[in-house]
Amino acid sequence: MIYDSVKDIKGIGPKMVEHLADMEIETIEDLLYYFPNRYDHYEQKPLHDLVHDDKVTIVGQVLQEPLVHYYNKRRSRMIVQLKVDGAVVKGVLFNRAFAKKHFQPGETVSLNGKWDQHRLQITVDQFKKGSIDAKSPITPIYSLKSDIKNVQMIKFLKEALTTYLSSIREILPSTYLQAYKLPSIHEALQAIHFPASFKELKHAKRRFIYEELLIFQFKLQLIRKRNREATKGNNQRFNKDQVDQLMHSFPFTLTDAQMTCLNDILKDLASPYRMNRLLQGDVGSGKTAVAILSLYASVTAGKQVAFMVPTEILAEQHEETLQELLPEHVIIRRLTGSIKGKKRKEFLEEISTGECDVVVGTHALIQDDVHFANLGFVIIDEQHRFGVNQRNILKEKGILADVLFMTATPIPRTLSITTFGDMDVSKIDQMPQGRKPVETYWVKHNMLNRVLSFIYKEIQQGYQAYIICPLIEESDKLDIQNALDLYHQLQELLPAHVKAGLLHGRLQAEEKEEVMDSYAKNKVQILVSTTVVEVGVNVPNSTVMLIQDADRFGLSQLHQLRGRVGRGDAQSYCILVADPKGENGKERMRIMTETTDGFLLAEKDLELRGPGDMFGSKQSGLPDFRLADVVHDYRALEIARADAIDIVENERWKENDFEELKRYVSNKSLFTDELLS
Ligand code: ADP
Ligand code: MG
Repeated sequence: MIYDSVKDIKGIGPKMVEHLADMEIETIEDLLYYFPNRYDHYEQKPLHDLVHDDKVTIVGQVLQEPLVHYYNKRRSRMIVQLKVDGAVVKGVLFNRAFAKKHFQPGETVSLNGKWDQHRLQITVDQFKKGSIDAKSPITPIYSLKSDIKNVQMIKFLKEALTTYLSSIREILPSTYLQAYKLPSIHEALQAIHFPASFKELKHAKRRFIYEELLIFQFKLQLIRKRNREATKGNNQRFNKDQVDQLMHSFPFTLTDAQMTCLNDILKDLASPYRMNRLLQGDVGSGKTAVAILSLYASVTAGKQVAFMVPTEILAEQHEETLQELLPEHVIIRRLTGSIKGKKRKEFLEEISTGECDVVVGTHALIQDDVHFANLGFVIIDEQHRFGVNQRNILKEKGILADVLFMTATPIPRTLSITTFGDMDVSKIDQMPQGRKPVETYWVKHNMLNRVLSFIYKEIQQGYQAYIICPLIEESDKLDIQNALDLYHQLQELLPAHVKAGLLHGRLQAEEKEEVMDSYAKNKVQILVSTTVVEVGVNVPNSTVMLIQDADRFGLSQLHQLRGRVGRGDAQSYCILVADPKGENGKERMRIMTETTDGFLLAEKDLELRGPGDMFGSKQSGLPDFRLADVVHDYRALEIARADAIDIVENERWKENDFEELKRYVSNKSLFTDELLS
């Protein structure tokens, strides 16, 4: 049985059982599923087919005696010149001067290592005398604890495959194996350890990646189904005519994308299931307008609405927008740090009696002693900032309201269907008409004065500008000092009638509001700020976003900042001031100047920094996949998701073909058992 201990395998004694247990290999199944982390292969290719930076094998004749340089006392660098296909190739070996005798002029040798196409040079990992067998095997290399040798591991696996392979059950339904031309579990297991060719290996990997993703999505869809069924009986009877009326009173017409999203949300409100939806849209795509219409629907159904935002500034701004756009009879209250004492008590009272319809505030809204009379709908703006925990608070408090999450940080679709796989997703994938894309420039620090005079020109034409100060992660103090210095510098440089405001994290809530307010009313023309303005602020009269030391920010963050301009009719500009040292930094600056597509930028960010960095590894909620990589395997992920939805929604797990998959999923997780009966 494959669930038996590895000690049943020939050659594995009690000591080895312990070593393997250190690597969490206990059963024969564990062993078979312990995949190599890379493969060694000596395979000769013509020089012009070699790819820069790849691991390659080169065979040639030694031209002359190798040269050895010594440095730093014991370090050495040996250069071997080989004649290959009529060209001269250099082999570089570090700290292996002792091997010099193996490279006699005229002899044939094979080198394996990393290829530098520009220098025709190989950094040698391994070498051997003579040429190589054209049909040499691909050797699996396992990541092992030091007590186990790779050759031993190979032996155990060969043994395990010979004895137990045939008793492993196929868990993938044959429908999928055929449709996607995937190898069977037996073929794939054999090939992932001992591939006969790289093509075979690729197919084996493809199978396991799909398998992993399908199982993951299957569980996710089951959870989603359970959540939905647990919350039957929450349908809001709103007044569609009143919602339409409000929509027509807006100073603009909704884009088609906004319309589609609004309808998704209204359908959820009306349905007896609890809404759990993510509204995704690039900065400036008009999520707030959609939110306002849908919350108004809930108000017409006689419910209260909580609108949660991540910062106090944003709460204040949303309050204003709501006052402006909602009909007068709707009562809106804001609960933030600056609402205190008697006023706060009054508001709490109004909320608990149901007199107040809409409450805007930071997360304190659901954590504090705020009691709603009839809370029906919760909107959470910039939801990724709240993290998974705060999302759970809603559940813990037993709030059965419909929930809409919004995010302006474009979540790559790969992440949105994993992390947010238990949510429905609506996307505003279109910008309001007439928007001019923000022009983005990257300049060096020594251009700062010219940039400032450019800003001055914009101000003379009646526009406004943001200046974002360098982000200093280690030190809050330095961060603020920077902002202060720049603020004073500006006041000296600019004529007296141009006013600047200063915003940073240490200001009191009231002070922040005051600064934002004077900027919104154009009493100050320049807003010098640390990154607090990043999220959601809307002052359409701003046409310049200047970001200092832009290379210290991630792409998504830069994109967020850039999204603060280009919100009105005028042409807007984003100026990145940076002297990046590394290639990565330069690359990021270039990408910013080349695209305004937030989704593309988020994908790039994910590529350059990884999902953990973007959302915090805990928050990303991603399991540790054995082979799958959500960035590179997003196609497979999408397919697996569609299949999982089909399996769960249409109860296909009741079919014979799905029997093994169902058994596997219910064995491996506790709760799914009951769901799959
Ligand atoms: P987001 O929250 O998605 O970043 P907002 O909802 O703040 O975007 O909208 C940005 C700006 O665009 C606001 O000034 C808003 O009034 C305006 N706007 C929203 N929808 C439209 C539309 N369909 N046509 C024109 N302007 C719009
Ligand atoms: Mg917004």
